[in-house]
Amino acid sequence: MKLESILLPGVEAKRPLVIAGPCSAETEEQVMKTARQLAANGIKILRAGIWKPRTKPGGFEGVGSEGLAWLKKVRQETGMYVSTEVATQKHVYEALKYGIDMLWIGARTTANPFAVQEIAEALQGVDIPVLIKNPVNPDLELWIGAFERLSKVGITKLGAIHRGFSSYDKKIYRNLPQWHIPIELKRRYPDLPIICDPSHIGGRRDLIEPLSQRAMDLNYDGLIIETHCDPDTAWSDASQQVTPDRLKQILDSLIIRDFKQTTEDLSQLRYQIDEIDDQLLELLAKRMRVSREIGTYKKEHNMAVVQTNRYDEILQKRIGEAVKMGMDSEFMRIVLEAIHEESVRQQIDVLNK
Ligand code: PEP
Ligand code: MN
Repeated sequence: MKLESILLPGVEAKRPLVIAGPCSAETEEQVMKTARQLAANGIKILRAGIWKPRTKPGGFEGVGSEGLAWLKKVRQETGMYVSTEVATQKHVYEALKYGIDMLWIGARTTANPFAVQEIAEALQGVDIPVLIKNPVNPDLELWIGAFERLSKVGITKLGAIHRGFSSYDKKIYRNLPQWHIPIELKRRYPDLPIICDPSHIGGRRDLIEPLSQRAMDLNYDGLIIETHCDPDTAWSDASQQVTPDRLKQILDSLIIRDFKQTTEDLSQLRYQIDEIDDQLLELLAKRMRVSREIGTYKKEHNMAVVQTNRYDEILQKRIGEAVKMGMDSEFMRIVLEAIHEESVRQQIDVLNK
C-alpha cells in the first residue's frame, strides 16, 4: 500500500491517515492542551505552524524556534509524532535539531523553485517524511518539480497535500479545489500518497466535513485538519479550525469506501465531469452577468435588445469552431441558441426594471 511510504512506526496503514493540530503554535499551554485532547481521541500526528508565511506583513508570523521545544514536549508527553512547515534552510536545521518527525512545505514555498531547492539541499541525508503542498497557483508541473527536487537529493518518504488554489474570483471556497489537478498527479504517480487539507481549501469550519468526504470518495490517503483547543481565539485561520472533539465527530462520520481499480478510475472520471459541469455553470452565470451589463448600456443609450447581424455572426463563427473541435454543428446551434435566448431574457429583464 502506498501510504506506507510516509508512515511513521506505529501509525496504522489505514485510510485516512490523520494529521491534526493548530494552524499555528501560539503558546505552550495552547499547544499542550490541543495535543492532549487530540491524543485522547486517538490522533497520532500533530501539526503546528512555527513559522507562518503571511500574505501581508503585520499578521502573526509564528512564534519561531521557541515553539519547537513545545512540540518536543508534546512528543515526550503524549507519544504523538509532530510535524511543522519549513520554508528555508534555517527552518530545516532548527526543526531537525528539535527532532521534528515530519515536515511539510507550504503552498507559497512550493511556488518558488529556489526555496524548494534550498530546502532539498538542507535535507540531504535525512530521510524523514516530507509532504509538499500544492503551489498557490494551479500549476501541476511546478508541484511535480518540487517532488523531483526532493527526490534528487535522496528523500524517499514523500507525500502530497492538496490545499486548493488561489483565485481572484472567490465564491464558496477560500482556495478552489480544482480536483482534477491532484487527480492528474495521482494518475501520473500512483504510488504517491495524497492528503487533503480541507481547512485551507474551505476556509470555513462547516466545509471541512463535506470536503473530507469528497477526498475519501476520491481515494485520498489522508487528511490534514486544523484543530485548536479554542478555535475562535486562534491567532491565525480562526474561521477554519475545529475543536478536537468536533474533529472526532467529523472523522467518525466519514464513509470510507473500498476502492477497486476499475471503479476508482470510473469515479475519478465522474468527478472530472462534475467539476467541468460546475465550471460550465459558473461560466454561464458570468456570461449572463455581462449580458445584463450590456442590457444596462442599451437601456441608457436607447438601443434595441437584439441586434440581428451581430448574433448571426457569433452563431456562425462559434458553430464553425465547434465542428473543428469535434462537436456536431446542430448540437452547437441548439446550445448557442438556448444561451442566446436566456441572454435576451436577462437583458429584457434589465430594460424593464
Ligand atoms: C498552513 O498549513 O497553516 C498554511 C500556511 O498552509 P498553506 O501553505 O496551504 O497556505
Ligand atoms: Mn493555516
